[in-house]
Amino acid sequence: MKITIARDAGYCFGVRDAVNLAYETAEERGDVYMLGDIVHNERVVEDLAEAGTKVVESLDEIPDDRPVLFRAHGTAENVWEAAKEKDIDIVDATCPLVQEIHDEVEKLSTDGRQASALRKMKRAGVVSQSTQTIENLQAIINILMTKVFDLHFINTICFPTKRNQEQIKELAAESDVMIIIGSFTSANSKRLTELAVEINPSTYQVTCADEIEPGWFDEAEKVGVSAGASTPDYLIDEVHEKLKAHSPVTEEVF
Ligand code: SF4
Repeated sequence: MKITIARDAGYCFGVRDAVNLAYETAEERGDVYMLGDIVHNERVVEDLAEAGTKVVESLDEIPDDRPVLFRAHGTAENVWEAAKEKDIDIVDATCPLVQEIHDEVEKLSTDGRQASALRKMKRAGVVSQSTQTIENLQAIINILMTKVFDLHFINTICFPTKRNQEQIKELAAESDVMIIIGSFTSANSKRLTELAVEINPSTYQVTCADEIEPGWFDEAEKVGVSAGASTPDYLIDEVHEKLKAHSPVTEEVF
């Protein structure tokens, strides 16, 4: 069985940097607080909790003198303001590519473009979440084109996401079975699975190696593997080991 693991499977640089920053901060300064989970992956959240990170729902729950870490995917402006007002020490793990999207929104907004409700309008600006698929965006833009006379669309799908999606499309087409590793709480991982299923119906999403069923590979000669941006390397390695244990490997390509 030939196993191909997509080159950019798993953590994007933004998530990797944020997780590393959380570990470093916890090690250097003790308990560090986060508003919600740092990534949509239960295993990563558990590991970080053991290292000393704490998840809270609001700034009010953070004890005096403890830092707050703002996650890779951005933090609302009003939360930034509130944290500064409370004099909370902010560790900023916002991905630079997310910051770019926020800057584009700012520009579109000062340009008088605010796409609030879906009614006929003269001018509107559109950006997307960095991990969207181009297929989803195209569908939405098609609708907006019938509603908006002057539409300014900025494609803000980030380049690590684009790369991962392109590789998945290629792998799904050439594999008999496709595995996507990622939490079901991760919209990004679910989107990648949808993308692969469209091309290859023998696609399975798993959160870890234990969920892999040997029966999936009965007829398979080629297996492709990729993972969402919030999936750590060790989960990909575990899946790889399980696949290798299942059948004699003829070739491995990364
Ligand atoms: S998915 Fe893209 S925008 Fe989001 S953290 Fe990763 S690199 Fe940054």
